[in-house]
Amino acid sequence: MDASLEQYVEMFAKLHVNHSGGHISPHKPVMLLAVLSLADNGGMTENRIEYGTELLELFREYFNVVASPNDRCTPLLPFFHLRSEAFWHHVPHAGQEQACRVMSSPGSAIQMTSVIEYARLDDELFLHLVDRTSREVLRQAIIDRYFPNCREELLKLSQQEVDIGAYRELFDSDTAKERIKESSRDGFDEHTRQAGFRRSVTQAYDYSCAACGLRVILGEVVMVDAAHLIPFEKSHDDDPRNGMALCKNHHWAMDRLLIGPWPDGRWHVHRELDDRREGQQDLLKLDGRDILLPRKSRYHPREDALQWRMDKMKECA
Ligand SMILES: [Zn+2]
Repeated sequence: MDASLEQYVEMFAKLHVNHSGGHISPHKPVMLLAVLSLADNGGMTENRIEYGTELLELFREYFNVVASPNDRCTPLLPFFHLRSEAFWHHVPHAGQEQACRVMSSPGSAIQMTSVIEYARLDDELFLHLVDRTSREVLRQAIIDRYFPNCREELLKLSQQEVDIGAYRELFDSDTAKERIKESSRDGFDEHTRQAGFRRSVTQAYDYSCAACGLRVILGEVVMVDAAHLIPFEKSHDDDPRNGMALCKNHHWAMDRLLIGPWPDGRWHVHRELDDRREGQQDLLKLDGRDILLPRKSRYHPREDALQWRMDKMKECA
Protein backbone atom coordinates (compact mmCIF):
# COMPACT_ATOMS: atom_id res chain seq x y z
CA MET A 1 0.00 0.00 0.00
CA ASP A 2 1.05 3.54 -0.78
CA ALA A 3 2.83 4.96 2.30
CA SER A 4 0.64 8.00 2.59
CA LEU A 5 -2.55 5.96 2.23
CA GLU A 6 -1.27 3.66 4.93
CA GLN A 7 -0.75 6.63 7.18
CA TYR A 8 -4.37 7.74 6.76
CA VAL A 9 -5.66 4.23 7.32
CA GLU A 10 -3.81 4.31 10.61
CA MET A 11 -5.22 7.72 11.52
CA PHE A 12 -8.75 6.57 10.72
CA ALA A 13 -8.27 3.57 12.99
CA LYS A 14 -7.10 5.79 15.84
CA LEU A 15 -9.68 8.54 15.90
CA HIS A 16 -10.10 10.37 19.16
CA VAL A 17 -13.53 9.09 20.03
CA ASN A 18 -15.56 9.19 23.22
CA HIS A 19 -15.59 6.01 25.23
CA SER A 20 -18.12 5.68 27.95
CA GLY A 21 -18.82 2.41 29.69
CA GLY A 22 -16.94 0.54 26.99
CA HIS A 23 -19.17 2.05 24.27
CA ILE A 24 -17.41 3.92 21.48
CA SER A 25 -19.30 6.92 20.10
CA PRO A 26 -19.91 6.22 16.43
CA HIS A 27 -20.15 9.89 15.41
CA LYS A 28 -16.70 10.59 14.02
CA PRO A 29 -16.35 7.39 12.00
CA VAL A 30 -19.93 7.84 10.74
CA MET A 31 -19.09 11.36 9.60
CA LEU A 32 -16.11 9.98 7.69
CA LEU A 33 -18.31 7.33 6.05
CA ALA A 34 -20.68 10.11 5.01
CA VAL A 35 -17.79 12.09 3.53
CA LEU A 36 -16.58 9.02 1.63
CA SER A 37 -20.08 8.67 0.21
CA LEU A 38 -20.08 12.28 -0.90
CA ALA A 39 -17.09 11.26 -2.97
CA ASP A 40 -18.97 8.14 -4.14
CA ASN A 41 -21.97 10.02 -5.42
CA GLY A 42 -20.21 12.91 -7.10
CA GLY A 43 -21.02 15.39 -4.33
CA MET A 44 -17.38 16.13 -3.60
CA THR A 45 -15.58 17.39 -6.66
CA GLU A 46 -13.37 19.75 -4.70
CA ASN A 47 -11.73 19.58 -1.31
CA ARG A 48 -14.60 21.23 0.44
CA ILE A 49 -17.02 19.64 2.88
CA GLU A 50 -19.99 21.84 3.64
CA TYR A 51 -22.24 21.31 6.61
CA GLY A 52 -25.18 20.95 4.25
CA THR A 53 -28.25 18.92 3.46
CA GLU A 54 -26.58 16.17 1.50
CA LEU A 55 -23.86 15.48 4.05
CA LEU A 56 -26.43 15.43 6.84
CA GLU A 57 -28.71 13.07 4.96
CA LEU A 58 -25.82 10.67 4.44
CA PHE A 59 -24.77 10.99 8.06
CA ARG A 60 -28.24 9.99 9.21
CA GLU A 61 -28.37 6.99 6.87
CA TYR A 62 -25.10 5.59 8.20
CA PHE A 63 -25.92 6.56 11.74
CA ASN A 64 -29.18 4.64 11.67
CA VAL A 65 -27.30 1.48 10.74
CA VAL A 66 -24.69 1.58 13.49
CA ALA A 67 -26.21 3.55 16.37
CA SER A 68 -27.01 2.02 19.76
CA PRO A 69 -30.25 3.08 21.45
CA ASN A 70 -28.48 5.71 23.57
CA ASP A 71 -26.59 7.37 20.72
CA ARG A 72 -28.09 10.63 19.51
CA CYS A 73 -27.91 11.65 15.88
CA THR A 74 -25.89 14.83 16.29
CA PRO A 75 -23.81 15.42 13.14
CA LEU A 76 -22.81 18.85 14.39
CA LEU A 77 -20.51 17.37 17.02
CA PRO A 78 -18.29 15.22 14.79
CA PHE A 79 -18.20 17.90 12.08
CA PHE A 80 -16.76 20.19 14.71
CA HIS A 81 -14.69 17.84 16.86
CA LEU A 82 -12.98 16.17 13.94
CA ARG A 83 -10.74 19.23 14.18
CA SER A 84 -8.80 17.27 16.80
CA GLU A 85 -7.66 14.93 14.01
CA ALA A 86 -4.63 16.09 12.04
CA PHE A 87 -6.31 15.70 8.63
CA TRP A 88 -9.52 17.74 9.20
CA HIS A 89 -9.32 21.52 8.88
CA HIS A 90 -11.98 24.16 9.36
CA VAL A 91 -11.97 27.03 6.92
CA PRO A 92 -13.47 30.16 8.49
CA HIS A 93 -15.52 32.82 6.76
CA ALA A 94 -13.58 35.99 6.01
CA GLY A 95 -13.07 37.94 9.22
CA GLN A 96 -13.85 34.91 11.44
CA GLU A 97 -10.31 33.51 11.60
CA GLN A 98 -9.76 34.36 15.25
CA ALA A 99 -13.23 33.19 16.32
CA CYS A 100 -12.62 29.91 14.50
CA ARG A 101 -9.27 29.34 16.21
CA VAL A 102 -10.61 29.79 19.72
CA MET A 103 -13.92 27.96 19.30
CA SER A 104 -14.14 25.13 21.80
CA SER A 105 -17.61 23.85 20.96
CA PRO A 106 -19.89 24.24 17.94
CA GLY A 107 -22.86 25.82 19.75
CA SER A 108 -25.82 25.54 17.38
CA ALA A 109 -25.61 24.77 13.68
CA ILE A 110 -26.24 28.44 12.90
CA GLN A 111 -23.51 29.54 15.28
CA MET A 112 -21.03 27.06 13.88
CA THR A 113 -21.73 27.79 10.23
CA SER A 114 -21.56 31.54 10.79
CA VAL A 115 -17.91 31.04 11.76
CA ILE A 116 -16.88 27.96 9.79
CA GLU A 117 -17.55 28.10 6.08
CA TYR A 118 -16.54 24.51 5.37
CA ALA A 119 -14.12 21.76 6.35
CA ARG A 120 -11.29 20.59 4.19
CA LEU A 121 -9.08 17.52 4.31
CA ASP A 122 -5.34 17.31 3.88
CA ASP A 123 -4.79 17.69 0.13
CA GLU A 124 -3.16 14.30 0.05
CA LEU A 125 -6.11 12.66 1.76
CA PHE A 126 -8.49 14.36 -0.64
CA LEU A 127 -6.60 12.79 -3.56
CA HIS A 128 -7.07 9.37 -1.98
CA LEU A 129 -10.75 10.11 -1.56
CA VAL A 130 -11.38 10.84 -5.20
CA ASP A 131 -9.57 7.66 -6.20
CA ARG A 132 -12.04 4.81 -6.08
CA THR A 133 -9.57 2.12 -4.99
CA SER A 134 -8.03 4.18 -2.20
CA ARG A 135 -11.47 5.24 -1.09
CA GLU A 136 -12.44 1.59 -0.61
CA VAL A 137 -9.32 0.98 1.45
CA LEU A 138 -10.22 3.89 3.72
CA ARG A 139 -13.81 2.74 4.03
CA GLN A 140 -12.75 -0.80 4.93
CA ALA A 141 -10.41 0.60 7.56
CA ILE A 142 -13.28 2.44 9.26
CA ILE A 143 -15.65 -0.51 9.07
CA ASP A 144 -13.02 -3.00 10.31
CA ARG A 145 -12.13 -0.88 13.27
CA TYR A 146 -15.50 0.49 14.41
CA PHE A 147 -18.39 -1.40 12.81
CA PRO A 148 -17.33 -4.93 11.84
CA ASN A 149 -20.78 -6.26 12.72
CA CYS A 150 -22.58 -3.93 10.31
CA ARG A 151 -20.25 -4.50 7.38
CA GLU A 152 -22.82 -5.77 4.92
CA GLU A 153 -25.36 -3.05 5.51
CA LEU A 154 -22.75 -0.32 5.38
CA LEU A 155 -21.31 -1.60 2.13
CA LYS A 156 -24.81 -1.79 0.69
CA LEU A 157 -25.40 1.85 1.58
CA SER A 158 -22.15 2.93 0.03
CA GLN A 159 -22.92 0.97 -3.14
CA GLN A 160 -26.27 2.76 -3.33
CA GLU A 161 -24.48 6.08 -3.28
CA VAL A 162 -22.17 4.92 -6.07
CA ASP A 163 -25.28 4.06 -8.12
CA ILE A 164 -26.98 7.35 -7.32
CA GLY A 165 -23.80 9.12 -8.39
CA ALA A 166 -23.81 7.25 -11.71
CA TYR A 167 -27.47 8.07 -12.17
CA ARG A 168 -26.95 11.75 -11.52
CA GLU A 169 -23.92 11.86 -13.76
CA LEU A 170 -26.17 10.88 -16.65
CA PHE A 171 -28.07 14.11 -16.28
CA ASP A 172 -25.35 16.43 -15.24
CA SER A 173 -23.74 16.73 -18.63
CA ASP A 174 -25.13 18.46 -21.68
CA THR A 175 -24.03 15.68 -24.01
CA ALA A 176 -25.96 12.96 -22.23
CA LYS A 177 -29.44 14.32 -22.76
CA GLU A 178 -30.63 11.98 -25.46
CA ARG A 179 -29.82 8.70 -23.78
CA ILE A 180 -31.44 9.81 -20.58
CA LYS A 181 -34.93 8.44 -20.88
CA GLU A 182 -33.90 4.92 -21.78
CA SER A 183 -31.12 4.85 -19.22
CA SER A 184 -33.41 6.05 -16.53
CA ARG A 185 -35.65 3.07 -17.14
CA ASP A 186 -32.98 0.47 -17.43
CA GLY A 187 -30.06 -0.48 -15.33
CA PHE A 188 -31.01 1.38 -12.17
CA ASP A 189 -33.18 -0.02 -9.45
CA GLU A 190 -36.18 1.85 -8.17
CA HIS A 191 -34.51 3.14 -5.04
CA THR A 192 -31.61 4.60 -6.99
CA ARG A 193 -33.89 6.28 -9.51
CA GLN A 194 -36.12 7.77 -6.84
CA ALA A 195 -33.27 8.98 -4.67
CA GLY A 196 -31.33 10.27 -7.67
CA PHE A 197 -34.38 12.13 -8.96
CA ARG A 198 -35.23 13.64 -5.60
CA ARG A 199 -31.72 14.79 -4.83
CA SER A 200 -31.02 16.13 -8.32
CA VAL A 201 -34.25 18.12 -8.46
CA THR A 202 -34.21 19.55 -4.95
CA GLN A 203 -30.54 20.50 -5.23
CA ALA A 204 -30.95 22.03 -8.69
CA TYR A 205 -33.68 24.30 -7.30
CA ASP A 206 -31.55 25.01 -4.26
CA TYR A 207 -34.27 23.49 -2.07
CA SER A 208 -36.70 26.29 -3.00
CA CYS A 209 -40.27 26.00 -4.25
CA ALA A 210 -40.49 26.88 -7.96
CA ALA A 211 -43.84 28.56 -7.31
CA CYS A 212 -43.50 30.58 -4.09
CA GLY A 213 -39.77 30.43 -3.37
CA LEU A 214 -40.29 28.88 0.07
CA ARG A 215 -36.98 27.56 1.31
CA VAL A 216 -36.78 25.97 4.73
CA ILE A 217 -33.81 23.81 5.63
CA LEU A 218 -33.26 22.30 9.03
CA GLY A 219 -30.33 19.95 8.92
CA GLU A 220 -31.20 17.30 6.37
CA VAL A 221 -34.91 18.17 6.53
CA VAL A 222 -36.08 20.31 3.64
CA MET A 223 -39.60 21.51 2.96
CA VAL A 224 -39.73 20.89 -0.76
CA ASP A 225 -40.63 17.77 -2.71
CA ALA A 226 -39.30 16.72 -6.07
CA ALA A 227 -42.57 16.72 -8.01
CA HIS A 228 -43.01 14.97 -11.36
CA LEU A 229 -44.44 17.13 -14.14
CA ILE A 230 -45.66 14.19 -16.21
CA PRO A 231 -46.62 11.76 -13.45
CA PHE A 232 -44.22 8.88 -13.02
CA GLU A 233 -46.92 6.24 -13.34
CA LYS A 234 -47.71 7.57 -16.82
CA SER A 235 -44.23 8.38 -18.07
CA HIS A 236 -41.78 6.28 -16.02
CA ASP A 237 -39.62 9.29 -16.55
CA ASP A 238 -37.25 10.18 -13.74
CA ASP A 239 -35.30 12.67 -15.79
CA PRO A 240 -34.83 15.64 -13.44
CA ARG A 241 -36.14 17.86 -16.25
CA ASN A 242 -39.46 16.12 -15.79
CA GLY A 243 -39.33 17.39 -12.23
CA MET A 244 -39.66 20.53 -10.22
CA ALA A 245 -39.05 21.37 -6.57
CA LEU A 246 -42.29 22.41 -4.93
CA CYS A 247 -43.44 23.05 -1.38
CA LYS A 248 -46.10 20.70 -0.04
CA ASN A 249 -48.99 23.08 -0.82
CA HIS A 250 -47.95 23.80 -4.37
CA HIS A 251 -47.09 20.15 -5.04
CA TRP A 252 -50.57 19.20 -3.89
CA ALA A 253 -52.19 21.96 -5.95
CA MET A 254 -50.23 21.06 -9.08
CA ASP A 255 -51.08 17.37 -8.78
CA ARG A 256 -54.76 18.35 -8.71
CA LEU A 257 -54.35 20.67 -11.69
CA LEU A 258 -55.30 23.75 -9.67
CA ILE A 259 -52.04 25.36 -10.74
CA GLY A 260 -49.55 24.46 -13.44
CA PRO A 261 -46.28 25.60 -15.02
CA TRP A 262 -46.76 26.16 -18.75
CA PRO A 263 -44.34 26.40 -21.68
CA ASP A 264 -44.53 30.22 -21.58
CA GLY A 265 -42.43 29.98 -18.40
CA ARG A 266 -45.29 31.13 -16.20
CA TRP A 267 -47.66 29.70 -13.65
CA HIS A 268 -51.31 29.40 -14.56
CA VAL A 269 -54.20 28.78 -12.24
CA HIS A 270 -57.50 26.95 -12.60
CA ARG A 271 -60.10 29.36 -13.94
CA GLU A 272 -62.68 28.40 -11.36
CA LEU A 273 -60.58 29.60 -8.46
CA ASP A 274 -62.29 32.59 -6.90
CA ASP A 275 -60.42 35.48 -5.33
CA ARG A 276 -63.33 36.23 -3.01
CA ARG A 277 -62.73 32.97 -1.23
CA GLU A 278 -60.09 33.12 1.39
CA GLY A 279 -57.65 30.28 0.95
CA GLN A 280 -57.89 30.44 -2.84
CA GLN A 281 -56.31 33.87 -2.95
CA ASP A 282 -52.82 32.53 -2.39
CA LEU A 283 -53.11 30.21 -5.36
CA LEU A 284 -54.61 32.96 -7.52
CA LYS A 285 -51.69 35.23 -6.74
CA LEU A 286 -49.51 32.85 -8.69
CA ASP A 287 -51.31 33.49 -11.96
CA GLY A 288 -48.88 34.83 -14.54
CA ARG A 289 -45.88 34.74 -12.22
CA ASP A 290 -42.54 33.39 -13.51
CA ILE A 291 -41.54 29.85 -12.74
CA LEU A 292 -38.58 30.12 -10.37
CA LEU A 293 -36.04 28.14 -12.35
CA PRO A 294 -32.76 26.46 -11.34
CA ARG A 295 -29.55 28.36 -11.96
CA LYS A 296 -28.19 25.59 -14.18
CA SER A 297 -30.14 25.62 -17.41
CA ARG A 298 -29.61 21.89 -17.95
CA TYR A 299 -32.08 21.32 -15.12
CA HIS A 300 -34.78 23.57 -16.54
CA PRO A 301 -38.06 21.72 -17.09
CA ARG A 302 -38.52 20.08 -20.48
CA GLU A 303 -40.84 21.67 -22.98
CA ASP A 304 -42.94 18.50 -23.44
CA ALA A 305 -43.41 18.19 -19.68
CA LEU A 306 -44.69 21.77 -19.40
CA GLN A 307 -46.86 21.17 -22.44
CA TRP A 308 -48.38 18.14 -20.72
CA ARG A 309 -49.31 20.30 -17.72
CA MET A 310 -50.88 22.93 -19.97
CA ASP A 311 -52.88 20.40 -21.98
CA LYS A 312 -54.19 18.70 -18.84
CA MET A 313 -55.31 21.98 -17.32
CA LYS A 314 -57.04 23.01 -20.52
CA GLU A 315 -58.82 19.66 -20.71
CA CYS A 316 -60.22 20.19 -17.24
CA ALA A 317 -61.16 23.82 -17.64
ZN1 LIG B 1 -44.63 26.88 -2.77
